[in-house]
Amino acid sequence: MRRRERKVEDTKEIKRILDESKYLQLGLCDKDQPYVVPMNYGYVYEEDRLTFYLHGATEGYKYELIAKNPKVAFALECGVEPFEGKVACQYGMIYSSIMGKGVAHLITDVEEKKRALTLLMKAQTGKDFTFNEELVSIVNVIRIDVTEFEAKSRPLPPAMQK
Ligand SMILES: Cc1cc2nc3c(=O)[nH]c(=O)nc-3n(C[C@H](O)[C@H](O)[C@H](O)COP(=O)(O)OP(=O)(O)OC[C@H]3O[C@@H](n4cnc5c(N)ncnc54)[C@H](O)[C@@H]3O)c2cc1C
Repeated sequence: MRRRERKVEDTKEIKRILDESKYLQLGLCDKDQPYVVPMNYGYVYEEDRLTFYLHGATEGYKYELIAKNPKVAFALECGVEPFEGKVACQYGMIYSSIMGKGVAHLITDVEEKKRALTLLMKAQTGKDFTFNEELVSIVNVIRIDVTEFEAKSRPLPPAMQK
């Protein structure tokens, strides 16, 4: 990261960003053409290991790409707010974000799918949902094993803080 002072390393702060962001942009490879698709997520972040769970319909272009090449990239952000300045280059945005890379797996194990959907709904709603076999059979669930990521926060510039 070029702006090292903006790097976020505190686990609690990383969890806050993961909790607030709600959806990520999933980057896939279509041979030499990138494909980006926004998707909601649930996650597990334990002992520096980050795993995402995504779900969707049972068909779609993204699954075709994952089947050919499971390497993915992702980006997510929260707290995005513009600020103004006196001149153009002083305008900007505050934000917190996470970017990284990983490997996508389409989950087939019913129990893992149930756990993944419970985590996803918890992350999205804060509520505890349970799923039966019939419910999990009508959706695809993708697990992203994150191989590397970095978190960053851009605060309001000191001159603009009251
Ligand atoms: C904030 C947000 C959260 C979302 N969360 C989820 C989620 O959790 N699960 C989920 O399955 N989907 C989610 N979606 C919808 C998702 O972005 C895709 O539209 C959907 O997953 C289908 O993707 P696909 O690759 O299977 O495309 P297909 O349905 O196979 O369609 C392929 C083509 O349709 C077009 N297309 C597909 N999606 C979009 C789009 N969003 N906008 C414009 N054009 C598009 C593109 O040209 C693409 O190449 C979300 C969208 C948003 C904006």
